[in-house]
Amino acid sequence: MRPRFVYFDLDDTLLDHREAERRALADLHRQSAEHFGAVGFETLHSTYRQHNGPLWRDYGLGQITKAQLKRLRFAHTLDALGVRSLDPDRASDTYLDRYGAHWQWSDGAREAFHAIAEALPVGILTNGFQEQQRAKLAKLPEIEAHCQPDALLIAEEIGTWKPHLPTFQLAAERAGVAPEEILYVGDSLKSDVEGGVAAGWSVVWWNGDPAHEEHGTRATSDWADVLRLAGL
Ligand SMILES: [Mg+2]
Repeated sequence: MRPRFVYFDLDDTLLDHREAERRALADLHRQSAEHFGAVGFETLHSTYRQHNGPLWRDYGLGQITKAQLKRLRFAHTLDALGVRSLDPDRASDTYLDRYGAHWQWSDGAREAFHAIAEALPVGILTNGFQEQQRAKLAKLPEIEAHCQPDALLIAEEIGTWKPHLPTFQLAAERAGVAPEEILYVGDSLKSDVEGGVAAGWSVVWWNGDPAHEEHGTRATSDWADVLRLAGL
């Protein structure tokens, strides 16, 4: 069945978050070389990712605040690396500044997004901080320009997060179609795939593992597959 509405996740689906994160950490590492000493960039990168993920989960559950998340991911990383002379808040400020400088479309995403948006109404459903997600959308203004009014949902603004069911229910209401008429494209197994499937949406698991496809999902890293599933 051809969908009547297509929602996209933002980070690591339309926008290359992972590369922006990597480049921002590389900038931090270079700018604070005297603090990192013998700690190499790859070690910083993997240690940061190891600590950042669980903190996002705690934040999604309401166990820590946004300010705590921003500070703790660097406090934990620097502590684990034995880097004691660099203030976590300063590291966080540098990181966030450089992160914003490296935002760009994922490979092929811009063309696919435009092709779909020309044929069908589209929207965005994203977790993340309000001001940061708004800033990303301001840097890639074509996204908001093509979204259906009311169908640009940022978790912090609507007060509910993926994968929680009310998030998807509100998004379907805003789209004005039945859940089974929505195609959702997202990269996170937990937030996007499990959340979308539970809400009765069809889901494309972007960059997902084809060996772990669930009912109603299709894992792919090829935008041509997404266009086909959108009925184009
Ligand atoms: Mg994502």
